[in-house]
Amino acid sequence: MPNIAVFIEQSGGTAKKVAWQMTAEARRLVDRAGGEVWAVVLGDGAAAAEAGRHGAHRVFIAGDGDFATYNSETWTRALAAFVAARRPDLLLVGATAMGKDFAPRLAARLDAACVSDCVGLDFDGGFKLRRPIFAGKCFADVAVDAPVAVAGVRPNAFPLFAGGGADAPAESFDPGLGGFTPHATIVETLTSAEKKIELTEAEVIVSGGRGLKEAANYKLIETLAATMGAAAGASRAIVDAGWVPHSHQVGQTGKTVSPKLYVAVGISGAIQHLAGMSSSKCIVAINKDPNAPIFKTADYGIAADLFEVVPALDEAIRALD
Ligand SMILES: Cc1cc2nc3c(=O)[nH]c(=O)nc-3n(C[C@H](O)[C@H](O)[C@H](O)COP(=O)(O)OP(=O)(O)OC[C@H]3O[C@@H](n4cnc5c(N)ncnc54)[C@H](O)[C@@H]3O)c2cc1C
Repeated sequence: MPNIAVFIEQSGGTAKKVAWQMTAEARRLVDRAGGEVWAVVLGDGAAAAEAGRHGAHRVFIAGDGDFATYNSETWTRALAAFVAARRPDLLLVGATAMGKDFAPRLAARLDAACVSDCVGLDFDGGFKLRRPIFAGKCFADVAVDAPVAVAGVRPNAFPLFAGGGADAPAESFDPGLGGFTPHATIVETLTSAEKKIELTEAEVIVSGGRGLKEAANYKLIETLAATMGAAAGASRAIVDAGWVPHSHQVGQTGKTVSPKLYVAVGISGAIQHLAGMSSSKCIVAINKDPNAPIFKTADYGIAADLFEVVPALDEAIRALD
């Protein structure tokens, strides 16, 4: 019976959405296959108290000052100590900037299998992890043949737990950091001055592409996004053109998103863009070319000039208030 540990990444004392998505999917799997879901929390935070509600059976916490600021070596050591002590069969880590940073290092330290960017999880005597390949054109099912595996999981690949979980008992574990000093430490973290909704956490995204014609017109996207309470995204074409920062880019070399609603404005629908957003629950495309590839992926298409549609849409949504 597999026991699945889930690393609960936190930001400012709040767990990342992907942490609870992984907890939920792990719970769905062990409900079929047997075993338990263990939430692993580093540092203080409300996350530990919430874990049971999201499907965890047990919570393990190493909460002291060592975890105030992220450090790849410290996180790796602490999680390696947890795995060595508790021996889960699988450790799930969100494929976030933090998770992508330490997961391979952790797998190497544990001599564990390492599977990145997973979007599917199954157990049939051994774990099978599904991951997209060739920019999302097809999937590979990876069978794990190792006593323990570390798997990176894409944000928004799984829904949250709907089973009404109960409180999970919590216990502390020794992260094994006594006498340890990392080789490198973060001396300062510069946060973006922009107070925008984070793309990977957003439930609604409005993205703009080269159809906007020039940088100043990205304001149309920002305005519609603000009206809809959405995050503002972008195609690589306009990021490369310097119209918006890379933090807005959606796609193969940008962020992977899976919001409830994705509105693509003046975006053609290149495979590399689709790789980052095609798992959105509902896709609306606005493009003046009725043959644009984006319409093959979209649930709703508006084949018209964005400079007419976007202001009209914005006005109509405002009128709903
Ligand atoms: C290795 C690699 C990685 C890449 N990674 C990414 C990535 O992460 N993300 C990404 O987005 N791309 C990525 N790309 C680039 C990708 O191939 C496309 O070039 C890019 O997505 C195109 O951006 P676009 O749709 O904004 O521009 P275009 O393809 O130029 O499309 C603009 C669209 O706007 C429409 N349009 C024009 N005027 C109007 C109007 N007035 N009203 C309505 N519609 C209008 C046009 O009909 C057209 O369909 C990558 C490419 C490579 C090779």
